[in-house]
This record gives sequence, structure tokens and C-alpha cells, in this order.
Amino acid sequence: QIFMPLNFLGFVYREIRGSLANIENLFKLLDRTPQVDDSQDATTLVTREGRIEFEQVSFAYHDDRPILSNVSFTVEPGSKVAVVGESGAGKSTLVKLLFRFYDPASGRIIIDGQNIAGVTQHSLRQHIGIVPQDTVLFNDSIFENIRYGRPDASEDDVHEAIRLAHLDQFISQLPEGAQTKVGERGLKLSGGEKQRVAIARAILKRPAIMVFDEATSSLDSQSEQAILRALREVAKGHTSLVIAHRLSTIVDADKILVMSQGRLIEHGNHDELLSQQGVYAGLWQAQQKQAT
Ligand code: ADP
Ligand code: MG
Repeated sequence: QIFMPLNFLGFVYREIRGSLANIENLFKLLDRTPQVDDSQDATTLVTREGRIEFEQVSFAYHDDRPILSNVSFTVEPGSKVAVVGESGAGKSTLVKLLFRFYDPASGRIIIDGQNIAGVTQHSLRQHIGIVPQDTVLFNDSIFENIRYGRPDASEDDVHEAIRLAHLDQFISQLPEGAQTKVGERGLKLSGGEKQRVAIARAILKRPAIMVFDEATSSLDSQSEQAILRALREVAKGHTSLVIAHRLSTIVDADKILVMSQGRLIEHGNHDELLSQQGVYAGLWQAQQKQAT
């Protein structure tokens, strides 16, 4: 899947550019998973404040291997919740269920009182913005790549998003500024720059709920700081769920969920978790040592 030829992505882009206005549909197209169908009486998701509730959610990709077991948590409106845990713990799976790429085997996922199993996938994905680990850029200008977040956005809105995502300095150094072409035949962006393009898209879209899957690749600390500033900007006033690899980026989260082997094993804010001296505290100490 990772090595999908770029010309195929270009094809997908052209296919969906006109009709579907959000990036999440791209994931749907790229995902080889069986499609989850809208129920016949599916309603349109209405978001008010953006509360997310996972109630006793269990899930397996294949019956013989449980991936999530009885996961329950609430993301309060406007708050920032981080999910941490070892690779393979099930963090990205939580996000896939939230987008309803799959249905839970049992339990429910509720957004502002509505079970997501009963709403149209289109409306669900319209209300959630995602900054993925790997952002797909198209063979087009940076400007258009950002406007993709909301195709009817004005030029001013796009420039505002560029500023808020802390991309303006980077863009000002490019030969043709925001009109510089990127992608296959154009400029190659670093992982951090691509992520900031995704953040700018999300800022334009302004959904009630934001999901971030942080890059694993070690960004230099300057890029990390720039991304952190941009993330804080976009998260303002939104409910946000952050899959965190570097704990330093989520110290300020309202709540941190620690996952291991598909279970929620600890939760609390940074200080509470440190004083519990459990798994989180161990991870924190290990990362602090690495950093020095
Ligand atoms: P994390 O994001 O915490 O690293 P994931 O949620 O991506 O973990 O994966 C949890 C487990 O589910 C892993 O063991 C992974 O191999 C498995 N997994 C992920 N996606 C699939 C899939 N599409 N089919 C089968 N197994 C999968
Ligand atoms: Mg993951």
C-alpha cells in the first residue's frame, strides 16, 4: 500500500477532486478494507460541541486476534486527549474506528450523542479533520494542495491558513512562493513540511473534531517546535485526539490514555501519570534519557 505508484495517486486525485471535497475520502479509496455500508436509515451527523465517547469498544481485524478490548474513554468538548503506547498497541485502529473504516465487534462510538454506526459516513468524515502521519500531496501548487481542505475557500483564507500553520517562512523562500509546484515532478517537501501542509488544510476545514497522528520520523527539534505551534493553533476551540509518539508533544494534554496490547491501562494528565510511576512514567523517563 505504501509503495502505491504515484501515478495511481494522481489518478485518484483527479477522480475525487471535483466531486468529493475532503481528504478523508482519499483514505477510503486507498484503504483496501471491506467497505462499511451506511445503514438504510442513516442520519446526517450533527455536531454541536464535539464530544467523543468510546463505550466498551472491542475490535478484531481477524476473529482469532483481538486488537481492542473493552476500550472506554470520553473526549470532552474542546479538550485535547492524547493516546500513547507501544507500536502495535492499537492507537491507529482507534482512529480507523472513529472514521468508521470498520465497525466495532462490540461497544459503541458516540459523537455528540449520536452513535456513529447510524450516521452517514460522508457526514461523519466531514466533521472530523485529520492530520495523518503521511500526508499525500498532489502534483499541483502548494496553494492548491492547501485549498484542498476546503475547495471553496478564498485566497485570503488560504493565506491565513498558511500563516497559522507556520508555513509562511518556508513558502517565502520558494522560487514561486505558494504557486510552486510540489509532488512527483516538483518540489519535494520534508516530512515536517508535508505535515504542516496537512495542518493548513485542517485549519481551512475547521471541523469540530481534529485527529492528529504524529510523525514517527524524528524531526529535528526546530521542525517539531514549528509543528507544535501550528497544532496548538489548529486545536484551539476544537476537540482533539492526538496519537503521540513523542511524549514531549503532549505534556499539555487534558488527558493522556496509555494503551498496551489493545487495552487502556492508564489514564490521567501528565503529572498524575508521572506520580503513578507506571508505564507512562517509564516511557517518559526513557524518552528523557534519549533526548539528552
Ligand atoms: P499502533 O497504531 O498502536 O501502532 P495499530 O492500531 O496500527 O497500532 O495496530 C494494532 C494491531 O493491529 C497491530 O498488531 C497491527 O499489526 C494490526 N493491524 C493493523 N491494521 C491491520 C489490518 N488492516 N489487518 C490486520 N491487522 C492489522
Ligand atoms: Mg499507528
